[in-house]
Amino acid sequence: MNEEIAIPAEKVDALYEQLAQEAEAAGYHLNPDRGFTWALVEGLLVNEQRYGYRACPCRLATGDKQKDLDIICPCDYRDADLLDWGNCYCALYVSDEVLRGEREVQPIPERRLPEGQRPQDRPTRAPAPPGKEPALPVWRCRVCGYLCARERPPGVCPICKAKRDRFERFW
Ligand code: SF4
Repeated sequence: MNEEIAIPAEKVDALYEQLAQEAEAAGYHLNPDRGFTWALVEGLLVNEQRYGYRACPCRLATGDKQKDLDIICPCDYRDADLLDWGNCYCALYVSDEVLRGEREVQPIPERRLPEGQRPQDRPTRAPAPPGKEPALPVWRCRVCGYLCARERPPGVCPICKAKRDRFERFW
């Protein structure tokens, strides 16, 4: 089924502003090309309506959240792509250098591996040997690497705003 999904402009504006504020607060930047970025934000909302989550607007999602977990925006690959290329795969996010005009936004190679080799396909962590268990479980945000020791991962990553299901047991 390929039905058209129309998103009201004010809804796109609101998410655009929210993402821009969250990005700047956490040291990230949205692409300063407002028209280009606005269209990607609209794509996120279309995907949210279509699949129930904000799948990457420039990748093909399956509609199975567990399979698409690594490409829910911000994807697991954003930080590495910003570091290596100066922009994420869609160029929704750009690096400091791009923002300062020292680097061009460019098409970049797809970092995502085939199904079966993606972060969510990794085997779960092996249990610690008896007597070596940490006092509290340590959780790692797969998007930005934030680590925290607590009974359960936070609902939202305080750094990159990824949701709880993007955390993995680190130790
Ligand atoms: S951060 Fe990842 S998921 Fe979000 S727009 Fe960029 S490439 Fe797509």
